[in-house]
Amino acid sequence: MPTSRRTILAALAAGALAGCQGPGATASGRPSAAVAVPRAVVFTPTARPAAPVAPAVTRAEIVARYGQLSPDYWGFGAPGVLRHAQASGQVIALTFDACGGPGGSGYDQALIDFLRQHEVRATLFLNSRWIDANPAAFRLLAAEPLFEIGNHGTKHLPLSVSGRSAYGISGTRNAGEVYDEVAGNHAKLTRLLGKPPRFFRSGTAYCDDIAERIVADMGERVVTFDVNGDGGATFTPAEVTTTVTAAEPGSLVIGHMNHPEGGTAQGIAAAVPILAARGYRFVRLSDQ
Ligand SMILES: [Zn+2]
Repeated sequence: MPTSRRTILAALAAGALAGCQGPGATASGRPSAAVAVPRAVVFTPTARPAAPVAPAVTRAEIVARYGQLSPDYWGFGAPGVLRHAQASGQVIALTFDACGGPGGSGYDQALIDFLRQHEVRATLFLNSRWIDANPAAFRLLAAEPLFEIGNHGTKHLPLSVSGRSAYGISGTRNAGEVYDEVAGNHAKLTRLLGKPPRFFRSGTAYCDDIAERIVADMGERVVTFDVNGDGGATFTPAEVTTTVTAAEPGSLVIGHMNHPEGGTAQGIAAAVPILAARGYRFVRLSDQ
């Protein structure tokens, strides 16, 4: 493992990814006609039936398959998780989480405006509570072709089949609760976007190896990261810039878009031109 990557991983222990927690607002986001993208691209085309909002597998099937299994791993590197860009070459995958809840339902408009103005592709992991609290922002993000929308959970819980915790947040306690945490926001996003999300990041990004298999059975891929870009939105702008510009080809950077008071937007705005000058291009997780 290269030194810089090892250094970044070592810094993870100090950088909280807890984001936020607590109940969200009750307003419901609802899609409207896209502004910049043809309606058929963003929402369900009329030529084929609407995607079912529930995952293809049922809760009972998941409990039957995984309810008796014990996990061997807890953290960011469970087998099967995506922690690097899928595209090859001089690429970086920027991802930004919106965790929701009273401590984290903000909207970092400066960050989003910067990405749009500079045509920077990114993947946005949205929690169900954040969507409920930001219906207008959600519509804009869903209609923006630069962005891919991922599932950041229903209650923003670490994804455990045995009740493990991360950053003081209690995780899901069993296979059924793992299903619930993924399925709730899977249904919301499928209904709003007209297609199911492809990627899932748990609250705090912690996941065990059994939970990873459950998410895969539900049609989504667990995503963690290899660069902790903003320390759970606690970094200063300079710290964000330093950390993000240490990324390597194929790095998958985690940041946050729900703390406009933090240093993320300013730090990213400084880092992107530096990385672009080094020949990097920015990709979404689906980009090959
Ligand atoms: Zn989060």
